[in-house]
Amino acid sequence: MSDEKVTKRMGQMLRKGAALLNVACPKCNTPLLRLQDGSMYCVKCDKEVVEKEPPASSKELDVSFSEVLNQLATKVLINIERLTQSLPENPHPEELRSFAEIIKDMILILRGIRELQS
Ligand SMILES: [Zn+2]
Repeated sequence: MSDEKVTKRMGQMLRKGAALLNVACPKCNTPLLRLQDGSMYCVKCDKEVVEKEPPASSKELDVSFSEVLNQLATKVLINIERLTQSLPENPHPEELRSFAEIIKDMILILRGIRELQS
């Protein structure tokens, strides 16, 4: 099933009352849905997923918190750079305002990261 079809099918199921879970399919990594009967379902594999031990691989737990913070900081910086480059010379005031809002949030995240790392 293509990703597009998966997304579409997922949307249909969510409208029917399924809930999006914070758990990914162990086979294909697609977010799982909780159906009304309580079972977990993977749209991409088109089958029920039986809940096992911790669904997330234990490998993720080995990643240190500071490593995650570093990754986050890098992503935020990349996004600040991209946004800055996408801003035109003479932005519309509305455009500038939303730009400033986003940048402000990102700087807050960076500041938070730095505080956690110190
Ligand atoms: Zn799957």
